[in-house]
Amino acid sequence: MTCVFCEISRKEKPAHIIYEDKDIMVILDINPISKGHLLVIPKEHHEAIQDTPVKTLVKTWVIASAFAKIYRDKLKAPGVNVITNSGSPAGQVVFHFHVHVIPRWEQDGFKKGGRHVLSEEEASEITSMLSDYLDIVKSYLNEISI
Ligand code: 5GP
Ligand code: ZN
Repeated sequence: MTCVFCEISRKEKPAHIIYEDKDIMVILDINPISKGHLLVIPKEHHEAIQDTPVKTLVKTWVIASAFAKIYRDKLKAPGVNVITNSGSPAGQVVFHFHVHVIPRWEQDGFKKGGRHVLSEEEASEITSMLSDYLDIVKSYLNEISI
């Protein structure tokens, strides 16, 4: 069975990659709930949170936490949601474990559940906004030596 996140991690399918190391990639969601909606994805395929090895979980959640920090403290997002969906009843659509980091802006339309299609213009704006702060991700990872 093909897995879209495995295809992206093997570079068989394009994505806007914000951060990447040997284990993890952070990409822009193709149908963002809000401007800057990120997906933190281990490169190795595991179906959901319950199937993922602890070290991989730690690294994934630490990187998600670093982006939550960047959004609030550097990019002044007044709120952020950090979530994972496990199983269809919880809304999981891609069965390759990942964590959503969804910055919340005033009047971002989130409550209406509206999504939009990521445009190239929006993608380059967010990529450049975040690129100034990737050292924060590295400093989070240094703390846990992973
Ligand atoms: P889930 O509901 O499984 O937690 O979320 C899957 C997320 O992956 C959705 O927010 C969806 O928009 C996103 N997504 C699905 N296919 C692709 C894709 O090909 N590229 C990117 N960048 N995001 C995708
Ligand atoms: Zn996969």
